[in-house]
Formats: sequence, C-alpha cells, structure tokens
Amino acid sequence: MTTLACTLHGALDLRLTPTEPRALGPHDVRLRLGAGGICGSDLHYYQHGRVGAFVIREPLVPGHEASGVVDAIGGAVTRVKAGDRVAIDPSHPCGQCDYCRGGRMNLCRKMFFLGSASIFPHAQGLFAQSFVMPERQLTPVTEPEITLGEIACAEPLSVGLHAVQRGGSLLGKRVLVTGGGTIGCMCVIAARLAGAAEVVVADIAERPLAMARTVGADSAVRSDTDAATLADRFDIALEAAGAAAALGTCLAAVQRGGRIVQVGTLPAELPFPANSVMARELDYAGAFRANGEFDLAVQAIRSRRVDVRPLISAQLPLSRAQEAFELALDRSRSTKVQLVADEA
Ligand SMILES: [Zn+2]
Ligand SMILES: [Zn+2]
Repeated sequence: MTTLACTLHGALDLRLTPTEPRALGPHDVRLRLGAGGICGSDLHYYQHGRVGAFVIREPLVPGHEASGVVDAIGGAVTRVKAGDRVAIDPSHPCGQCDYCRGGRMNLCRKMFFLGSASIFPHAQGLFAQSFVMPERQLTPVTEPEITLGEIACAEPLSVGLHAVQRGGSLLGKRVLVTGGGTIGCMCVIAARLAGAAEVVVADIAERPLAMARTVGADSAVRSDTDAATLADRFDIALEAAGAAAALGTCLAAVQRGGRIVQVGTLPAELPFPANSVMARELDYAGAFRANGEFDLAVQAIRSRRVDVRPLISAQLPLSRAQEAFELALDRSRSTKVQLVADEA
C-alpha cells in the first residue's frame, strides 16, 4: 500500500513522495495521520537542511509532533485497537545504555527519535498519510471532545515540562520565558503547573506576546524596547527563542545565583559572557527534548487541565505541506501550524 509523505531533500527542497509503510510486526501498529505539528526544528531542516549538528544526508520525512488514528494492528498488540485515536511519543531510547539505565533516556547513545537526522540512516518522521509505529510509543485518548490537533500537542508540551524540570523547583519563583512561540508558551503552561509565583514572557513581536498572555503569562513584554523592566528580577529564565539576543536578555534578567535553562536551538557560534556566569554564580542548564514527561503531557491535555487549543493557528492538508511550512515560518500569522490528512 503506497501513501504520500512530505520529504525534505535538502534546504528548501520539500516534495510529496510516494512511500511504502513498513510491514506490520507483531508489536506494530499502522496509523493514519491525525494531526502533525510543524516544529521549529522541522523549520530549521526546511530552511537550512540542518538543525545544529544534525544535517540532512538522505531524504528525510520530518515531523515528530503527531497524533494518529489506528488502521491495523499486529498480532501481539494489546494497548490499542482499530479506530483508536492515539498520542505518539516520537522518542525511542534503547533502554540499555548507561544514560538510559541512569534514568536520562533523552540522552540515550542510540536514540531513535522520529523525524530526525541525528542518526544515519535517518529516523523517518510522521508527516505522511500512513506510517507504522511500535505500540509502546502510543497512548490512546478516549475522550471524544479532545481533538486530534490537541492530542498532537502532547510532544511540545512534554518539552515545556522537561524545560521546567531542568529549572529545578519553580514553586513560588519568578520565571522569565524568552520567546512566545509554541515552546515558549508550553514553558509558560508548564511553569504555572509547577507553581511559579509569576511568569513573564519576553519577545520582539506582538503575536507571540498576545499568545503568551492567552495561555497564562502574568505579563508579556517587548524584549527589544522594554528590556530595562526585566533586569535583575527573576529566579529562573527559560530561553525558548533560540536567539543570541534572547540569551542576553536572560543573562541580564536573572538575579545572582539564578538559573537559565536553554531550550531553543541557538546559532552555532555566539559570543558568551562566561565571566558573568562565574562572578554571579549563575547556573546555565540545557534542556533537550523530554525525558519521561510525555505521559504527564497527554494526561494534562486529555483532562483539559491545560488548554492548548489557542496555540493551533492553522491546519492544512498534507498535500499543501509546502504552503504550511511557509505559513509556519511567518511568526506574525502563526503559532502552531499542523498538517492533517487530506479528505479521502
Ligand atoms: Zn519539536
Ligand atoms: Zn540508551
């Protein structure tokens, strides 16, 4: 059975190509695409053919934030059945290396993360009409009122939850988030869940600031013109913009002894005032994907304890993937753009 997949052949070279989903093993599930969010990392692959050190070396199907509908199951599958709507965890750590056994699965030496060029052959992603997944990476969502678009937000929410986890206890703390895109907004949601006393978002554009307020930021300010109001008053900063200037904002905004968590992907080389980290005893921590927060994210979405619906700014059919990627690049119009199945 041949289906269509959105495939990147290099920078700005996106094609719709026929693919053959692999055969079903006993523990495998064949899914139809529910909704698949275009992530900042997918956009990096689209624009530059790479994300940081991960370079496209063969055609790559991007996409790691997706929900699906079960089409067929292997003989030993028990977690899901045909017709189920599922959340998809794109992360498949080996479970056996020293990092996995030490509980830091997101750092696995043999990580298989969908839609990523971090390994070769690449881990093909989810922007396809149909694909096959091991059942262990699927969680059925049985609440009919929760949409496939919301379910597809579990992965980016798990990234926000992990970023907060890396920040240490947020209870009663003043938290700055730089960047009001999807991940920044997920950091806001996660910081509120974690008990932050105040969550402020800084960005350089109006739409992300408005979105941050919508999802629960106490205030949202321009980091280019209102930087002075942010200086020296936060315990923790979550850098989710992936911009050198935003990291500068974080460094100025945290108090002595504070902590900065790097969530966004920064340019490869940038000047870094390391002496400020030293003399002010700052902690600078990285947060990479998520580690065990996925189930919590699914739980929070299916109960609507958090409402991710405002973040979904557009849904386009897979056949219009190129247009969807271009729309996602426009921060004045888009937060989360999702690809959905074409009408049959
Ligand atoms: Zn992502
Ligand atoms: Zn491992």
